[in-house]
Amino acid sequence: MKPMDSEVLREQGHIMVDFIADYYKNLEDSPQDFPVLSQVQPGYLRDMLPDSAPDHPEPLKELLDDVSKKIIPGLTHWQSPSYFAYYASSTSVAGFLGEMLSAGLSVVGFTWLTSPAATELEVIVLDWLAKLLQLPDNFLSTGNGGGVIQGTGCEAVLVVVLAARDRIMKKVGKTSLSQLVVYASDQTHSSFRKACLIGGIHEENIRLLKTDSSTNYGMPPKSVEEAISSDLAEGFIPFFICATVGTTSSAAVDPLVPLGKIAKNYGIWMHVDAAYAGNACICPEFRKYIDGVENADSININAHKWLFANQTCSPLWVKVGTLINALKTNPEYLEYKVSKRNEVVNYKDWQISLSRRFRSLKLWMVLRLYGAENLRNFIRDHVNLARHFEDYVAQDAHFEVVTTRYFSLVCFRLVPVDGDEDKCNERNRELLATVNSTGQIFISHTVLSGKFILRFAVGAPLTEEKHVTEAWRIIQKHASKFIHKKKY
Ligand SMILES: *Cc1c(COP(=O)(O)O)cnc(C)c1O
Repeated sequence: MKPMDSEVLREQGHIMVDFIADYYKNLEDSPQDFPVLSQVQPGYLRDMLPDSAPDHPEPLKELLDDVSKKIIPGLTHWQSPSYFAYYASSTSVAGFLGEMLSAGLSVVGFTWLTSPAATELEVIVLDWLAKLLQLPDNFLSTGNGGGVIQGTGCEAVLVVVLAARDRIMKKVGKTSLSQLVVYASDQTHSSFRKACLIGGIHEENIRLLKTDSSTNYGMPPKSVEEAISSDLAEGFIPFFICATVGTTSSAAVDPLVPLGKIAKNYGIWMHVDAAYAGNACICPEFRKYIDGVENADSININAHKWLFANQTCSPLWVKVGTLINALKTNPEYLEYKVSKRNEVVNYKDWQISLSRRFRSLKLWMVLRLYGAENLRNFIRDHVNLARHFEDYVAQDAHFEVVTTRYFSLVCFRLVPVDGDEDKCNERNRELLATVNSTGQIFISHTVLSGKFILRFAVGAPLTEEKHVTEAWRIIQKHASKFIHKKKY
């Protein structure tokens, strides 16, 4: 037996593709067999598997039986058409084929030399995507910027914090990390705090500015400006603003135009975290939400969230050189010569890791096998389904839509009775638990201004109108039970 044998690969690869195709078919045709939120208890798997690895080979068929019987029950079915929690992690046939090709070729393009095509395709495909997003020229490799595919949004935010820190340290000369200050809203993704801490920024210098319903939870530019002025007066060095387009809680949008002006005035790096909603900006009607990106220093989207690019794929665009200045290393064993040395990209200097997957292949396949117009329509379909759900909520007096919806997320809740917010929170919490315990749908929650809120996020690739209608029926059914019981 050899670890790689093309005939075994052919035979078993076909079996695996059939297995995966059946999975998707069954998710659609037999939803009762696939509770969307896994209903297993912690530790369930230990009793089902042996204590140690086998000494001798086992047949693939037996293994796949185990997947069906032991693993799949322990999955939360993110690709189920009735998955509406968090944000989706959208898959597609093209994305899957791209993953398969990338896994199959298994090249490691850390420098241009180690696979010229892996590097050059990434540069080109990220220019394509930048054009679909109408990003300014200074984020294109043909301008004075360029893109890089990070593994995740968290990694994207981390590397730009490091690049911004490098830029400010070089500018102000020797300074103490304790002087450096960053700004974001209290709705910013938790990855920002983690990135700052890894970057040595002091926790007490992370200014998370308060938001409320008056701006639909977007970051108020006035608070940013006031915070910067007061920090400067106290001798701090403001160097980074993280603006979010489509926050994780409620898909709020920070106003990039005024924030960008502030960042520019004070020479502060502005990053735009558009992990979820940035994908929608390939549609002209949503592009306005990233207006102002011209004044940003970097922007990232998660193509694995809502551009059908299967886990994981987080394109990040920056001005040329900025990441390299902070992250470049030059060990002798990676040295090589090309004729025009300065014209090649070495992606190892744009990221944390050395090794990297050939992810651009997947993005290239998604863009080519669907084309921009279909991708726009996939996104529009999801937004329309969310609108549909929002209409249902708005028509039921027991419920309310809590925030203005821009994309495919609806934030809603059972309304309070007699102004009793505590009891209202309790009922919504109970409704969430009940609905999810049915296994028929999976939704998630957040808290905004002390209110416990239910989140209904459309984005799974199999979701159709009938699934949204059914989800609303299930929510209403379980709500009505205690609406009546508790004399609403
Ligand atoms: C999902 C998300 C992230 C985190 O992205 P990962 O790829 O999971 O690391 C960061 N910011 C926002 C706004 C997100 O929606």
